[in-house]
Amino acid sequence: MPQSSYSTIAEALQWAYSQLAATSESAHVDAEALLLHCLNKNRSFLYTWPERLLTSEQFKAFSQMVTKRQAGSPVAHIIGEREFWSLPFIVNDSTLIPRPDTEILVETALNLTVRHNAKVLDLGTGTGAIALSLASERPKWRITAIDNVPGAVELAKANRNNLNLPDVEIIQSDWFSAVEHRDFDLIVSNPPYIDETDEHLSMGDVRFEPQSALTAADEGYADLFHIADQACKHLLTGGYLLLEHGYEQAIKVREKLIELGFQNVATVRDFGSNDRCTLGQWVG
Ligand code: GLN
Repeated sequence: MPQSSYSTIAEALQWAYSQLAATSESAHVDAEALLLHCLNKNRSFLYTWPERLLTSEQFKAFSQMVTKRQAGSPVAHIIGEREFWSLPFIVNDSTLIPRPDTEILVETALNLTVRHNAKVLDLGTGTGAIALSLASERPKWRITAIDNVPGAVELAKANRNNLNLPDVEIIQSDWFSAVEHRDFDLIVSNPPYIDETDEHLSMGDVRFEPQSALTAADEGYADLFHIADQACKHLLTGGYLLLEHGYEQAIKVREKLIELGFQNVATVRDFGSNDRCTLGQWVG
């Protein structure tokens, strides 16, 4: 460990890489993100000022964070924040950490032709990432976001305040239960869709995320299919359902939407070229 009071940025990063290399596949990125958080700077600062000395407080805070990361905690939990759609979201262990893959769902929703003041529902909003990103782009959309987990509802509200998007309605609801008598132009969701027996659940960052946000019964299809079944009763004529799902689930989700009578059913790939979202239009 470098002498705290004499450690430069370059030395601190080098030390952190060596600590994290064995336990994290993203040791370099992690070390940089943690140090940037301690210094409250942006990435270019690290490379512009590699000889800059850390104060002993900065080094102490940094080494504590590196220790947490070594024990497996996700970087987003350690720094309490994750960027999504270029917006800063507060995160904690009550819900899923927003994934870059989900940005394709936001992009797809924004490309749909709906009325200028569309009524939009985001089911299982978690941090609020989808609903608040849509609100940041479409201030006239009337957006409701629901989550069944009280801690997630609180977190989404904190993000709504932080991002200054007060018009987004955020409520606690078991899927459609609190919006039973309401109809929407667009229903979006990134529900839990991982098979409960998936071996990846015991690896990496997902170990620190709640199962309720990750897994669903019936090989991961239970919530996707429940939402699809219910969405038919809550979509206005011409409205859209847009669901995120696992990269191997597209065929079955498309079949389900077609069976329910949705039209223009299509799957969209994420930026890693994996099938990621499927949408359909409800023509009544
Ligand atoms: N895509 C996420 C993962 O694979 C899971 C997100 C979800 O279940 N909604 O970790």
